[in-house]
Amino acid sequence: MKVVKNVLHMQKIALKHLKNKNEIGLVPTMGALHKGHVSLISKSVKNNDISIVSIFVNPIQFGPNEDYIKYPKPVQKDLKICKENHVDYVFMPSVNDMFSHNYKTFVKVRDLQDILCGPIRPGHFVGVVTVILKLFNISQANRAYFGMKDFQQLKIVEKMVKDLNFSTEIVPCPIVREKDGLALSSRNSYLSADEKKNSLNIFKILNLAKQDFKKCKLNLVKSKAINRFKKIPNSKLDYAEIVKFDDLSKVDEKTKKAVFTVAMWIGKTRLIDNIIMSKKK
Ligand code: AMP
Repeated sequence: MKVVKNVLHMQKIALKHLKNKNEIGLVPTMGALHKGHVSLISKSVKNNDISIVSIFVNPIQFGPNEDYIKYPKPVQKDLKICKENHVDYVFMPSVNDMFSHNYKTFVKVRDLQDILCGPIRPGHFVGVVTVILKLFNISQANRAYFGMKDFQQLKIVEKMVKDLNFSTEIVPCPIVREKDGLALSSRNSYLSADEKKNSLNIFKILNLAKQDFKKCKLNLVKSKAINRFKKIPNSKLDYAEIVKFDDLSKVDEKTKKAVFTVAMWIGKTRLIDNIIMSKKK
């Protein structure tokens, strides 16, 4: 396994693999790797000749009052996980190398970025999509792996790839959870024992909504869930919404496949989670 820190060096390596007809898989991450990331890495390693894991805590996707500075950076542990999981290259660029002092280009996916987390985290998705597009060009990836945990991000990236005619295949990967149901996240390390206990309610409530979706009107599914979320101690709800699975658009009573998506604060930690809901019994 090679650790590559320079953007042009990484791109040169990728172009060489492309010339040799090696298929390249990319797993974009911000590090602090856990079993959720490992599930993406394993898929990439299984289905490509070469796998690149990028570790980049992207400053332009964090708001001024967000956790950019305190975001966990256990580099040695991350490298060990990558090595144990047969990654070929770990790409760890510096901020200066990704965004030179005269950087000017940003990518926007309209509408999809203006709902759910969008208005609450202004500029977040422009930051995410811009870096992902750069990573696609640097890595020359045939396939890129994204977790359904960040469902809005996944749908925005899918749209960007379609609209801009990228040939990179986007591979969605299911949410990996702790045994108790909590979706794995690098930010879970911020939770105290009590907060962790409280956060277990999120998945329980999503599961109840999933059952309600089969038999109740949408408004009721949503209001029951919101009431339950609001009862979680020491919490604040950013949003709880039901959207269409395919494109995050508005649901109606005829919608067969939807996603219940939630963002909430448990203490000082912002958690997101979602569940796919279908009318089929
Ligand atoms: P992050 O390092 O948080 O930016 O996440 C990097 C990638 O890992 C994103 O595509 C996430 O959706 C994915 N990911 C994070 N947590 C999980 C999880 N619990 N299950 C599946 N994928 C995840």
